[in-house]
Amino acid sequence: MNNEQSEVIVLGLGTGGEDLVLRLLDEGLDVVGIEPNLVGGECPFWACIPSKMMIRASNLLQEARRVNGMAGHAEVTPDWAPLAKRISEEATGNWDDSYGVARFESKGGRFVRGYGKLTGPNTVAVGDRSFTATKGIVIATGSRPFIPPIPGLSDVPYWTTHDAIQTPTLPDSMIVLGGGAVGCELGQVFSRFGVDVTIAEGSDRLLALEEPEASEVIAAAFAAEGIVLHTGSQVERVEEVDGSIVALLADGTLLTADRILVATGRTVDLGELGLDSAGVATDGRFIEVDNHLRAADRIWAMGDVIGRGMFTHMALHEGAIVAEGLLGGNPPAADHDSLPRVTFTDPEVGAVGMSEAAATEAGLDIAVSVKQVPLSSRGWLHGSGTSGIIKLIVDRRSGLLIGATSVGPHGGEVLGVLSTAVQAKIPFQTLRQMIYPYPTFYGGIGEAIGAYGRGTMKVIDPDFDPLILD
Ligand SMILES: Cc1cc2nc3c(=O)[nH]c(=O)nc-3n(C[C@H](O)[C@H](O)[C@H](O)COP(=O)(O)OP(=O)(O)OC[C@H]3O[C@@H](n4cnc5c(N)ncnc54)[C@H](O)[C@@H]3O)c2cc1C
Repeated sequence: MNNEQSEVIVLGLGTGGEDLVLRLLDEGLDVVGIEPNLVGGECPFWACIPSKMMIRASNLLQEARRVNGMAGHAEVTPDWAPLAKRISEEATGNWDDSYGVARFESKGGRFVRGYGKLTGPNTVAVGDRSFTATKGIVIATGSRPFIPPIPGLSDVPYWTTHDAIQTPTLPDSMIVLGGGAVGCELGQVFSRFGVDVTIAEGSDRLLALEEPEASEVIAAAFAAEGIVLHTGSQVERVEEVDGSIVALLADGTLLTADRILVATGRTVDLGELGLDSAGVATDGRFIEVDNHLRAADRIWAMGDVIGRGMFTHMALHEGAIVAEGLLGGNPPAADHDSLPRVTFTDPEVGAVGMSEAAATEAGLDIAVSVKQVPLSSRGWLHGSGTSGIIKLIVDRRSGLLIGATSVGPHGGEVLGVLSTAVQAKIPFQTLRQMIYPYPTFYGGIGEAIGAYGRGTMKVIDPDFDPLILD
């Protein structure tokens, strides 16, 4: 077997790996990039970009429907075809990565199509080719949809998110298995395009990883749009009957639809990566790394495969740290504590840092405030389509905001200021003294914490004055 040498080998030119190799090539490193599927990975082809295009289109439909009663009369006839065309042609080039491959190679990268497998501390095999890295190896192999072991599920033609993103036509009805971020986003999209959507979620609320108040807002908004919700009961069996999909819930409910979309989270394939040969440890589910994303001597891992926040922005954040490590710099530790996350439902759910439950469990002395966005100045004047909350969690000892949730129109954008405050450790006192442009949605934060002398949200809760220490 011939051995090809390079400075760096990257397994997986997906969302994080592609950004990393382009950084390394710009710094003049000799890089081998290995990718079995599409260069660019999930985000541009099957995840963030096309799903947010779908959300943009479905939000347009809903905004048009909101004309009634506020600005005249509108009748809306959804049509999936222009959206499917936009995803196929504009977003993904019909799921073609030749641009990504050409960009990598034009900068001097050596591209290898195939699955990489570690064969030693500094060697990788792809089929019958062998590669050695003198500076380091990076594992950025991502994740895939988790298919729960529900009896009968594997016998029916279920959709994963890939199918949902690539579909040229819509079914009349759909069961969405899983009420997490992806299930909620896609379920709402399909519903707004006229599909009868039922979301089946085993835990007792949608968006179970977020604050309960956020779940309540989303459940109410979905119910108002006609999405049927079944929470707190697991799907026990799935079968195909006369061309329809039938799901049996533990509480005896039978759900029937044309399609079932499995949106029950992500899993990571570690078995085929040859991790043992290179001394890379796992916790059984994900690759273990230190704060600088080192998995072993001269081996780094990043992105979904380390399970520290399965988001594009985390993969990019981690890639910057790995790049600096490979270039011999002194990178900062990865920051997984102030991870901002946004679920792009309408209303959007933005969240950062610790939840109330996590802070309480950690034994912190916290002050908590929850304010209704429709009672803020902007929320009130916005009218139709406004629901949401701003929830703030302040550590009373340090006087710092340690967690926040912003649900509402543009809730992900409103999160910007809260996310900055958590990550940069801006004193809560400074947040209160800030000048918030009136009447913005993020000005609702100012109203919630008493920065304004006006606004119906400004009912300073005597229990929520984190600046008064016991
Ligand atoms: C429907 C959906 C919507 C999403 N929306 C958002 C969003 O709005 N915002 C956000 O921040 N995140 C979003 N995400 C999450 C985001 O897409 C992922 O967190 C991100 O793509 C992870 O990047 P990655 O580089 O770790 O993995 P990937 O992008 O999956 O790349 C990993 C690559 O490794 C390759 N690979 C696998 N095995 C091997 C091997 N043995 N050798 C070589 N290569 C290999 C794979 O083919 C793949 O291309 C969404 C996810 C989904 C499913």
